[in-house]
Amino acid sequence: MSKMTSPVQIADLARATLKRLGESRLPPTPENYSRVYVEIAQGAPQPTPAIDADSTFGRPARFPAAAVGQVPWGALLLNLLSEWERSQTGLTQLQKRQAIDALGTATSPLQDAVTLQQKIAQLLKQWAALPSRQAVKGNADETTVQEAATDAPWRQLWGQSLKYGLLSYCLDADLQSRVQALIALAERGDTAETVNPAILTTENRELWLKWDRLRAEDEAVRDGLVGLFDLVLGNLGEFLAQDHWICVQMAAIQDTLRPPLDTERLEQAQGSLKQLLFRQGVLQKSADEVRATAKELIGMVVRNLAGYVEYSVNYNRALDGDLQRLEASNDWDEIRRVVQGILTQSRELQERSGKLGGQLLQAQRQAAEAHERIQSLEDELEQASQKLQEDPLTGALNRRGLDVAFARDMSRAERQRQPLSVALLDLDHFKRINDTYGHDLGDEVLRSLVQLTRRVMRPTDAIARMGGEEFMLLLPDADAERAWGVVERLLEAFCHQRVMHQTSGQCVEAAFSAGIAQWCVGEDFAGLYQRADTALLAAKQAGRQCLMQASPCAKSDKPHA
Ligand code: GH3
Ligand code: MG
Ligand code: MG
Repeated sequence: MSKMTSPVQIADLARATLKRLGESRLPPTPENYSRVYVEIAQGAPQPTPAIDADSTFGRPARFPAAAVGQVPWGALLLNLLSEWERSQTGLTQLQKRQAIDALGTATSPLQDAVTLQQKIAQLLKQWAALPSRQAVKGNADETTVQEAATDAPWRQLWGQSLKYGLLSYCLDADLQSRVQALIALAERGDTAETVNPAILTTENRELWLKWDRLRAEDEAVRDGLVGLFDLVLGNLGEFLAQDHWICVQMAAIQDTLRPPLDTERLEQAQGSLKQLLFRQGVLQKSADEVRATAKELIGMVVRNLAGYVEYSVNYNRALDGDLQRLEASNDWDEIRRVVQGILTQSRELQERSGKLGGQLLQAQRQAAEAHERIQSLEDELEQASQKLQEDPLTGALNRRGLDVAFARDMSRAERQRQPLSVALLDLDHFKRINDTYGHDLGDEVLRSLVQLTRRVMRPTDAIARMGGEEFMLLLPDADAERAWGVVERLLEAFCHQRVMHQTSGQCVEAAFSAGIAQWCVGEDFAGLYQRADTALLAAKQAGRQCLMQASPCAKSDKPHA
């Protein structure tokens, strides 16, 4: 049975409901409001307490069965809201959502508002019949106490998480006091003092907002520092451009520091930088030692030389006197004494000069040794730096080495207006070689290609392993035509050589396909690689074991002829 209610009646009913709630000293909760509203709408003058005879598990039944279909929309919606927010035992939020969805599809709201109303009321009756999760038994007061009791451990846990988890990370004083205040608020639950959940929520939200702001600031500072470090390294690199080892180390560190950053890469960069400083320090110390030794030796030689010069001046003066005495004397005894003196003094002069010569020789030897020591240290550093740029399996350059070599060749080509070409090589059916003869022989094929290339290329050319079985030849001072000739010869030689497995003695023939591209002024590595790669793909599609010339550069600048 349904009864239509006009808006005026609804307003009157609402006013009467609120009045009765006031008279009965009932709190204006959605439950009380809807119950009293229904009572007034049905004409039952009943200022009863919150729990009625139809209540289930101590909760008031929101809709008596008889009221279904007569419930006004306002009360119905308030009730729906209240039941939606309540957590019922045996009913999940998903099930609730599905039940609401089912209402929408089963009923056309325009055609049958009454059926929809009845169905919602029916649904609410079912939901209201289910006890709250926290309040399975007992009356309403017990429920509140119990809810507070079940809430307490959570608040305690939340407080402990803040205290032992978050607080130690709060370096900012304001954030620290905010967290402490929140801990105090959470801990108040232990003393059964009620904490307004709204305050807790607001405080929490404030805390996270602040935390988020600080985190964003931290990130900005970190990015700024990395940028600054990059700038310093870049400028130092330019400053120390003549020291190849340092340049390579710095490029490697800059490479490691490229975003996205993580602690492992930061540690790696830190380690490399320490190593760089240490090695640089060792070198510097050795150079200082050599300089100090050389200075000492020179000082000693100069002192002895001065002594020697003084002695020889005295000697010459004495010799002059002796000669005059010799000329004037006719006494054989005196002549013999003078000659004896001259001989003694000249022997001493000879000794002194021999000693000085010995010292000079020793100084020379020591300086040579020191120079050798520095040279071997520098060689060691150079080797270490080359290792950083080398593919360990084949000895070809790795990507880092190629970057360095390409940058060098490109700027030289630009400066001297010379051509520069690259060839991208990929072994044909290499997987088949691996599958048939084993991975070891596959490795041997890779090594043999690099060795053969080194024999065929000019010393200024370079070969780099791009990864797997793909290589790049860097050919300075070669236009596309010349590069074609070089790669053609290499392919012919490679196809004719048989690679033998050193332990098993098995032999295998291999071939490659290649794409050749000539660099044009203004083109970066990525653009050049792209053109060579497309040409390589065309070579594969053309049947493999062949070369393809890349399409011309899209840049307006012409390649250097
Ligand atoms: P395609 O002619 O089309 O290039 O065929 P492919 O078999 O050469 O190419 P694919 O990409 O199918 O296989 C490449 C193989 O190279 C698969 C991989 O196992 C092998 N490979 C990659 N790196 C190495 C390595 O360091 N040593 C060995 N032995 N094999 C490698
Ligand atoms: Mg291949
Ligand atoms: Mg490949």
